[in-house]
Amino acid sequence: MKIQVIRSTKRRKTVSARLNGDTLIVRAPAHLPESELQQAIARLQKQVAAQNERRTLSDAELHKRAQMLNRRYFDNQVHWQHIRWVSNQNRRFGSCTPARGTIRISHRVGRLPDWVQDYVIVHELAHLIEANHSPRFWALVNRYPLSERARGYLMALGLHDDEPASDEKEAPA
Ligand SMILES: [Zn+2]
Repeated sequence: MKIQVIRSTKRRKTVSARLNGDTLIVRAPAHLPESELQQAIARLQKQVAAQNERRTLSDAELHKRAQMLNRRYFDNQVHWQHIRWVSNQNRRFGSCTPARGTIRISHRVGRLPDWVQDYVIVHELAHLIEANHSPRFWALVNRYPLSERARGYLMALGLHDDEPASDEKEAPA
């Protein structure tokens, strides 16, 4: 982790840090003694590293899970750029941008039973084959045996289906 210190006369007391790529950008008051600054940097470095570790691990686990489900239900035919947890989707269980091959899963799903999480991942993976909610899409999703049950479970929690962007542009078949 590289460190870049920005001292500011506007800042009175607090030292803050933000990770930008692999550089920790530290903002500090202009007159803070160097020894105090170094202590604050050490503390912030630890915090940022811990946060990053947690996020990387859970995204990595999600990726592994998706690989396993891809093998089991889609013969490894689904390819994606990334799959990650997001905390800004509270009503949708997940979303997918087929054109970019990206999948986002709501952090709320992370607290649900494994078999429901698996359904959500299978649902989003299937969107990379079929972007819409066509019968062909549901046939793919239903390869996962607990699909119906998981849909009911999510509905009861008020977690709704995603709306893939490509749905809107879909010409009526
Ligand atoms: Zn969907």
